[in-house]
Amino acid sequence: MGLTRVPGLLFGGDYNPEQWPEEVWQEDVRLMAEAGVNLVTVAVFSWSRLEPAPGAYDFGWLDRVLDLLHEHGIAVDLATATATPPPWLVRAHPEVRPVDAGGTRLEFGSRQGYCPSSPVFRAATVRLARALAERYRAHPALAMWHVSNEYADHTAECYCEESARDFRRWLQARHRSLDGLNTAWGTSCWGQHYTDWTQVEPPRKAPGPVNPAQLLDWRRFSSDALLACFEAERAVLKEVTPDVPVTTNFMSVLRDLDYWSWAAAEDVVTDDAYPDPADPRAEVKAALSYDLMRSLKRQPWLLLESAPSAVSWRAVNVPKDPGVMRLHSLQALAHGSDGVMFFQWRQARYGPEKFHSAMLPHGGTGTRQWRETLALGADVRRLAEVAGATTAAEVALLLDWDSWWGLEAPESMPSDRLRLHELLLSWYAPLHARGVAVDLAPPGRDLSDYRLVIAPNLYLCTAGHAAALAAHPGRLVVGPFSGVVDAADQVHDGGAPGPLRDLLGVRVEEWRPLPDGVTQEVVTTDGTSLTARTWTEWLEAAEGTEVLARYRGGPLHGRPAVTRRGAATYLSCLPEDPAPLLDELLAAAGITGVAGPGLPAGVEACRRGRYLFLLNHGTEPATVSLPEPGTDLLTGRPLPGGPVTLGPRDAVVLKPRPTTP
Ligand SMILES: [Zn+2]
Repeated sequence: MGLTRVPGLLFGGDYNPEQWPEEVWQEDVRLMAEAGVNLVTVAVFSWSRLEPAPGAYDFGWLDRVLDLLHEHGIAVDLATATATPPPWLVRAHPEVRPVDAGGTRLEFGSRQGYCPSSPVFRAATVRLARALAERYRAHPALAMWHVSNEYADHTAECYCEESARDFRRWLQARHRSLDGLNTAWGTSCWGQHYTDWTQVEPPRKAPGPVNPAQLLDWRRFSSDALLACFEAERAVLKEVTPDVPVTTNFMSVLRDLDYWSWAAAEDVVTDDAYPDPADPRAEVKAALSYDLMRSLKRQPWLLLESAPSAVSWRAVNVPKDPGVMRLHSLQALAHGSDGVMFFQWRQARYGPEKFHSAMLPHGGTGTRQWRETLALGADVRRLAEVAGATTAAEVALLLDWDSWWGLEAPESMPSDRLRLHELLLSWYAPLHARGVAVDLAPPGRDLSDYRLVIAPNLYLCTAGHAAALAAHPGRLVVGPFSGVVDAADQVHDGGAPGPLRDLLGVRVEEWRPLPDGVTQEVVTTDGTSLTARTWTEWLEAAEGTEVLARYRGGPLHGRPAVTRRGAATYLSCLPEDPAPLLDELLAAAGITGVAGPGLPAGVEACRRGRYLFLLNHGTEPATVSLPEPGTDLLTGRPLPGGPVTLGPRDAVVLKPRPTTP
């Protein structure tokens, strides 16, 4: 049994039957069955059709859709339809519309037009969720609840008066007293001392930079306010249908929501992933986001939306070349997804997403897209036994949303070029290229499962974080500008790396960010020259701290750049290519790639349970040495071990031959 009661891997997509006459539904379910679709997401934006007037429900059409799907063996990920409030609610209660940082209340006519803190909105969503749960609690097609849709995609925060009141309540719970707030926010700076709670407002557009501590609390609050919307719906779904898993679709590596706290409130992690086919790093970015999804609950997850080909919302929407949809889908399975789902089943004829690709395109069944959809469905069926298999990673990359929010506060940092997603990628990309399995982890967690822990950046670092890192028995790498501030965004006494000072055995005297295009040479003790960009530091190494690399040239000439104390390495700079340092760390930790050394460029290797996925993202054939004999699940062909050649954009999923005792 996988994530839902549907056996094997899940295959399907968003299905919007309300956009089509009912006679089309018959063709839909026939073609879904032909393609091997076993799950569809229904009713994501259907609120105005399900509840055309307050409390007056029209479930007839949805009854027929669910019955029809069930008759054809297709299960349903049923949305609570609350992602877009209907016109009647917005007109009766104009205050449910969100307000932006400049004070503009946004108009109806798009989607996600709601204030997360609006009691009217929240009550209306809970009423609809309850009505749906009670209507379909016993429907045999119901496999999963899909609450709202892509929280924070358009409305990550709302600056209205209702949100301001909610923010004050949240602040009172966090800081307890106005004195506590004034201290935490450092309101002695720039004359911001508050004498009454009613004076405290969201960080709306102001003449200059807003208080970064206020902004950090605002980001925490905004993530929590949306989470409260999710939890309110989840509570009624769990009350009525306790055995049906509840999810909401995440949006890959997203800054706005603290997915560690969100995932804890979900039964199943699901993700919407739209790597840009025109981006040369698309596969690496996708792999990072998939590993995050797998790590959030440390269990299989589900790719709930992806694009069969082009999307419709970039400036230029490049389609996927032949074979790329299959390869990207296999990549999600390799990284722990228990299925492949798309937006959407049938390509729309109207609306902002009418040019977004679909499993069944405008051109119908005589198209390359449809042929690839059919072929992918067959591949997914061949891989059914992979469902539920887990991944064991020896490397953890640390990701903390508080730290991310603090690091990217506008107009108040030494450099605005430190972007957390890029810092994560700078370590993740070479690990990925080596076929090394990586988990993401929050910094306060027990990290003893990992032999190597990498904190690309931990700008905000508490005593608890430092204690967890000090207790980690394996190797640790900490990147620059870490241990700078506490949970209130206040600089640690004595400067960076604050609570990590004893562990790392260094003291940072000065930040020396580099202007764009300027580089700084760094030379390791064995003479390897590295090029640093973006960031350097004036670093003091304590007695007993080994210097692994020094700056060469410029004002930092001869000063420590990379240090080690015990098992903890500190980097005070950002090497363009950290590979020489990484290889030494991996060797010292005894970590090798899952397909052994020498993985050709463009080939991705992932082990999931006992299955070895080899994916050639390149447009030329590539030869990989199989570490063991087995069978390719995609073709059924036996493979003797040793060299195997992957065609362009082709893949092998090796099921190792059972070893005989
Ligand atoms: Zn609001």
